[in-house]
Amino acid sequence: MMAGDKFNFLKTALQNYKNAAQYLNIPERIYESLKYPERVITVRMPVRMDDGTYKVFRGWRSQHCSWRGPLKGGIRFSADVTQDEVIALSMLMTYKCAVVDIPFGGAKGGITVSLDDEAEELTEEQKKAWCYRFPYKMSERELKHLTYEYIEKIYPIIGPRNDIPAPDVNTTPKVMGWIMDKYSAMVGHTEPAIVTGKPLSLAGCQGRNEATGRGCVTTILEALDYLKKSNRLHHEEITCAIQGFGNAGSVVASLLSELGYKVVAVSDRSGAIYNSQGLKIPELIKAKNSEGLASYKEAESINPDDLLTLPVTVLVPAAVEGAITKNNASAVKARIIAEAANGPTTPEADKILEENGIFIIPDILANAGGVTVSYFEWVQGLEYLSWSLEEVERRLQVKMTRAFEDVWKTKCKYNTSMRTAAFITGLERVVRAGLDRGKGV
Ligand code: NAD
Repeated sequence: MMAGDKFNFLKTALQNYKNAAQYLNIPERIYESLKYPERVITVRMPVRMDDGTYKVFRGWRSQHCSWRGPLKGGIRFSADVTQDEVIALSMLMTYKCAVVDIPFGGAKGGITVSLDDEAEELTEEQKKAWCYRFPYKMSERELKHLTYEYIEKIYPIIGPRNDIPAPDVNTTPKVMGWIMDKYSAMVGHTEPAIVTGKPLSLAGCQGRNEATGRGCVTTILEALDYLKKSNRLHHEEITCAIQGFGNAGSVVASLLSELGYKVVAVSDRSGAIYNSQGLKIPELIKAKNSEGLASYKEAESINPDDLLTLPVTVLVPAAVEGAITKNNASAVKARIIAEAANGPTTPEADKILEENGIFIIPDILANAGGVTVSYFEWVQGLEYLSWSLEEVERRLQVKMTRAFEDVWKTKCKYNTSMRTAAFITGLERVVRAGLDRGKGV
């Protein structure tokens, strides 16, 4: 993506919605309703910083559509998050939850804050700014108070049966623990079902951390199977390249290499590495955690942009939105793109990839494993239950396989792309719920 060419999540989400809606006979009242969130609140959080000054941070919570159940969605801490981005992501959550058929509607939250581990000391001028929206390493105390303030401000619209937050960009299980703590203190009892993605010690769910990557791999295996069955993939050696080696990307890499597929390239913010013989993922994870990807010796360093155009079977964008654009789409040689990240492909790029016959597993399907296991965590929280890892993985596998099959059937029925098919699958379920609630008239 060119500098200054910020990916427009809201435009893309609405475009995907409209593309899907034209295949369905949707009453106008419902069609118009779904273009907007049911509710968005803007909140301000005053926080006393470690230097004794007060800063007022800004955040949002968007609730898109509650027809299928309580609202669900992560909270992101990011320097450039905007209200439109939060609204768009809440829309995607509505359809993502419906694609995997879990009884939630879509929500999302965000706070404009920059958290840079490598940030230098603030200048006096930066300290005077109204909130820290530039690289700055928040202390744990500052972050906790920011989180507490946010929960206090969105308290009227969240709850274990209304809206259940979760982790997203830059929010960790620790932050989820603070959310549970603050909410529990406000209601006067411990409430495990108010938030998911919690540490295991706080009624977290086994396998939650790996869920997005694991779910993504299930969809990749399904896609490989369909391509083989339709004779579009012969007995070639399966190779993979993964952009982003964080929570989602590193799990995808581990599981694919455990299955015997060659992961030939990975990248992160620090750069990209390549070995045509395949990377040894456990060693790579060790290297990344000690001195960074570049310290892994058995690979050559490549230009991170080139990773996206390697001649591999499976390309997994698992880092940022807008990674594949009209500028690089025609050079992509992968047979399958599995969108572990949210919004990694722009609509213009999408058209080009589609024309070139690349099989896309769209984000609302490929990365839905995370919210699926969040749903399992919520159910366990409501019932004070604790499932084993095997139980969680078995249920996840069932949900992801069924979702893939449903989207595939929709694709065949309407002769459309996998992305539009995923939106149609989700939208059809949302519209059905709306009709059954009488929202159509
Ligand atoms: P993360 O912060 O754990 O990892 C992100 C990785 O991407 C890091 O390795 C980072 O260095 C790398 N990265 C950042 N910018 C990059 C760039 N320009 N080029 C190459 N690498 C870059 O985040 P995550 O949780 O793995 O999330 C990644 C994506 O997956 C996001 O789009 C997120 O919304 C999506 N997602 C994650 C989950 C989840 O449960 N973790 C669920 C659904 C969707």
